Amino acid sequence: MKDSYEVIVVGAGPAGVAAALICRKRGYNVLLLDKKKREKIGDKVCGEAISKKTVLKAMEKLSIAPPLEEEIKAKIEDLVLRTALPKNHITFPAIGYMIDRHMFGQRLLQEAIKSGVILKDQYRVKKPIVIDNKVSGVLIKDSEHNSIEILSKMVIDCSGTMAVVRTGLPQEYEPNLNKKVTKADFAPCYREIIQLNHDHDLEGKIVLQYEIDIPEPGYIWFFDEGEKRLNCGTGFIKQGKHATKSVKSVYFNALEKYFPKGTYKTIDGRGDVVPIRAP
Ligand SMILES: Cc1cc2nc3c(=O)[nH]c(=O)nc-3n(C[C@H](O)[C@H](O)[C@H](O)COP(=O)(O)OP(=O)(O)OC[C@H]3O[C@@H](n4cnc5c(N)ncnc54)[C@H](O)[C@@H]3O)c2cc1C
Repeated sequence: MKDSYEVIVVGAGPAGVAAALICRKRGYNVLLLDKKKREKIGDKVCGEAISKKTVLKAMEKLSIAPPLEEEIKAKIEDLVLRTALPKNHITFPAIGYMIDRHMFGQRLLQEAIKSGVILKDQYRVKKPIVIDNKVSGVLIKDSEHNSIEILSKMVIDCSGTMAVVRTGLPQEYEPNLNKKVTKADFAPCYREIIQLNHDHDLEGKIVLQYEIDIPEPGYIWFFDEGEKRLNCGTGFIKQGKHATKSVKSVYFNALEKYFPKGTYKTIDGRGDVVPIRAP
């Protein structure tokens, strides 16, 4: 593999693919790195709700076709904020889509590769290489645990919550830029996709349900995926008196109130974290 590029983009999620495409459009040679296997890229624990206006604008900017029929699980019309009190809710118009993130992410990746971006999957970036006070590449571990240095004129960190390049910068590089990601910087979440065995009244809606038992500012969400399927989940900052609370049990207790056990089948259930601090 050529060991020097004009641009290295770390992470092939939506941010990384967009950055890689834009750099490629401007004529740079671009290496896109991801720790996941190629076929897993785009698969992420997510609410999967996106605003139509935002996604169309972004896709236009990237010269990519808008979400395709097969990538859209359901169309969304309303955002509803609800509490457990009857009639205590506010509805906002929210035109958007429930999207199959994995399928959508794979297409974005495909577009980047088609444009000439070079993808290296199963390349885990360990830290930036800093020469003369300038980020000049990255140190990676491949799937066989070989350490490899790759140099570049520019490195763009799109590795998501853990920000592997930014947090690996030397202390003196830039005050605060390398600030470590701590427990207070993200909310652990648990998310399920459930198949109901009955009809529901959430068609075309994404609902944020505030509950007394979910630590503020957390909520349980119910997003309609169509065909009696819901994307549901909760998350909160595990600090102070909530430090030892299990996100999963808070989620299941809240879910039970609205969709008791036996009324649904779980299709997918996984945890992740949502960042809640700007870098
Ligand atoms: C539970 C949950 C629900 C959400 N719901 C919604 C929603 O409904 N609507 C919405 O718009 N957003 C939602 N989000 C947020 C959304 O998922 C993120 O904003 C989005 O994924 C950020 O994209 P990204 O490209 O920055 O990072 P990511 O999608 O996280 O991609 C980062 C990529 O970097 C790779 N990577 C990480 N570390 C390394 C490393 N060391 N070396 C190489 N590669 C690495 C990862 O494998 C991954 O492919 C949700 C997030 C969570 C956790």
